[in-house]
Amino acid sequence: MPAELISGTELRKAILEELRGEVARIKEKYGKAPGLVTILVGENPASVSYVTLKVKTAESLGFHEIQDNRPESISEEELLALIDSYNKDPDIHGILVQLPLPKHINETRVLYAIDPDKDVDGFHPLTLGRLLIGGRAVRFLPCTPAGIQEMLVRSGTNLDGAEVVVVGRSNIVGKPISVMLGQKGPGANATVTLVHTHTKNLADHCRRADVLIVAAGVPGLVKTEWIKPGATVIDVGVNRIGINPETGKAILSGDVDFAGAREIAGKITPVPGGVGPMTIAMLMKNTVRSAWLHLGGGASEA
Ligand code: NAD
Repeated sequence: MPAELISGTELRKAILEELRGEVARIKEKYGKAPGLVTILVGENPASVSYVTLKVKTAESLGFHEIQDNRPESISEEELLALIDSYNKDPDIHGILVQLPLPKHINETRVLYAIDPDKDVDGFHPLTLGRLLIGGRAVRFLPCTPAGIQEMLVRSGTNLDGAEVVVVGRSNIVGKPISVMLGQKGPGANATVTLVHTHTKNLADHCRRADVLIVAAGVPGLVKTEWIKPGATVIDVGVNRIGINPETGKAILSGDVDFAGAREIAGKITPVPGGVGPMTIAMLMKNTVRSAWLHLGGGASEA
């Protein structure tokens, strides 16, 4: 029997519906909406389309949304000053700077300038330190790993004591998700192995996995024979493998041999329509959480 599909598109709908209810409660209690600013520098087409989707989603939830587009020529100092102004703006609870930034701007400096209490993308070192400590110290989860964990929990995948193998050790996906799933608590308590380009016997590790999370950026890296029968497979990879001659749009593929894997796995995420849609939903969830914290006076608590 083919594996059950875990649809990010469907789960996103459910999560956004829940958030709509929370936004209404925030408005009723505080007379204010969650405030999100999306800062886009330049006109990189992929960035424009990501930002547009984020802005539309925020508006559909009734957020106070500011789309702040700046020209490619903006200096680093000007961008830092802009971020500082949003750090001080009481109506803004989340600040998102769309990456990549132009080469003359130091991305790290910019991301570190965001007030950690408004770091809804979850990339600030303080946010990641809190994530490492776990429990009540956690403030915002980085969006893609948060989306993965939410998919696992909402699809009924057992994580307690499960063997989880994460392929890829990036700061935005592999490293944080491996820490999150190994923490003590619900939706975690897994035994996690993090594998990468220097790992010996990659296939053997994957074959042990009850839950296999792949974020390598290599199309078809994980072969059908590497999957344990009944495993849950989360394919984070988004790779452009060609152009559809009829639509002119990119043909996307994940990191897993999907057709074969679907015959072996218990549950699997598609690409597109899997992890991708969850990432935006988690950005909105972080912004709503930040609004509760700021408006309720708890944002500066340790
Ligand atoms: P990255 O590109 O920064 O790093 C890739 C990681 O995979 C590295 O740690 C590397 O060691 C490992 N790796 C690469 N080739 C490997 C191999 N042959 N064997 C074992 N390990 C290998 O990673 P990233 O930024 O996490 O992106 C990974 C993929 O996930 C990309 O396709 C990216 O587009 C996608 N992605 C999707 C979303 C989403 O929202 N759906 C978000 C972030 C990233």
